[in-house]
Amino acid sequence: MFSYRHAFHAGNHADALKHVTLLATLRHLMAKSTPLTLIDTHAGAGVYRLDDGAARLSGEAEQGVARLQALHQARVSEENQAPDQAQRAQAATKEEANLLWDYLALVAGFNSNASPEAPWRVYPGSPFLMHALMTEPGRAAVHDRLKLFELHPTDSQALAAHVAQLEAGRQVSVARQDGFEGLKGLLPPPADRAGSRRALVLIDPSYEIKTDYARVAAAVQDGLRRFATGVYLVWYPIIGRAQAHDLPRRLRTLANQAGRPWLHATLAVGAPRSATPAAVPGAEPARPGLTASGMFVINPPHTLAAGLRAALPVLQEALARGPHAGWTVETGG
Ligand code: SAM
Repeated sequence: MFSYRHAFHAGNHADALKHVTLLATLRHLMAKSTPLTLIDTHAGAGVYRLDDGAARLSGEAEQGVARLQALHQARVSEENQAPDQAQRAQAATKEEANLLWDYLALVAGFNSNASPEAPWRVYPGSPFLMHALMTEPGRAAVHDRLKLFELHPTDSQALAAHVAQLEAGRQVSVARQDGFEGLKGLLPPPADRAGSRRALVLIDPSYEIKTDYARVAAAVQDGLRRFATGVYLVWYPIIGRAQAHDLPRRLRTLANQAGRPWLHATLAVGAPRSATPAAVPGAEPARPGLTASGMFVINPPHTLAAGLRAALPVLQEALARGPHAGWTVETGG
């Protein structure tokens, strides 16, 4: 059985890259008022406590979203103190990182019952972030659908309980099922009254099982065959494993073969010098944990590359832990 629990990783640098990209893509799709089918093949528990054992033990949110909270607060207080100055600053690079500010404002919204200075205690996972956008006042009447898959018995139970609290009725469904298999039955998505079909698919496995890499590629290939105009977002870890290294290349080939545009973004936070492999021969290397990850998007919004090129330098600066921090955004097709 799986041992991966996202509660240890919620709000880390990888979630920041993934969720900034996801939200920006979704915002763009929601500019059109036809309904969307949103599919999260690996949903996790939906929402996480940052002050509980798992998050505190790993310390990942501490080095992730906690640092971003400081950034968010600084920006909000700048705006409050000097609105004119803030308007002028919008021309400056940092202010162009709208994708990042939007993401942080949403996370702040989940923590709005505490004082703004108090450390954020709640982190919304992808299901809750997508649901938040679906139910914003300007969007709620459109009735988008959210389909969630989670296989881990504990997390699927937690997800079902969290989703029940949303009182979303049939708009949100939770299945304790293999997300790769479940996806097949949902594409193409149903047509609305005008015959339009639109879907966003987030594929975000834990890659605990090595075959996940091949299954991601197969799911994307099958998805493109069933529904070529769907928007597919794949998160993957950048680690020293051949399958992880090959995955973005395979996805690029699949997108090119299907004649679809793609975007590939990466964010590396580096590792403190003390955590890099031991300089002393024979010494046990310290484990820095995951230091980099990527997002591959097929059929991305045309605005996404520019948005990420503004947001990722700010994210990198805030989250860097040591040498080898960096970011990339590449497009094609
Ligand atoms: N998408 C979530 C978010 O951004 O908040 C995080 C998901 S976490 C990285 C991956 C999840 O996939 C884990 O909760 C794991 O239990 C679940 N999982 C692993 N294999 C699965 C499968 N074949 N089908 C569905 N869920 C799976």
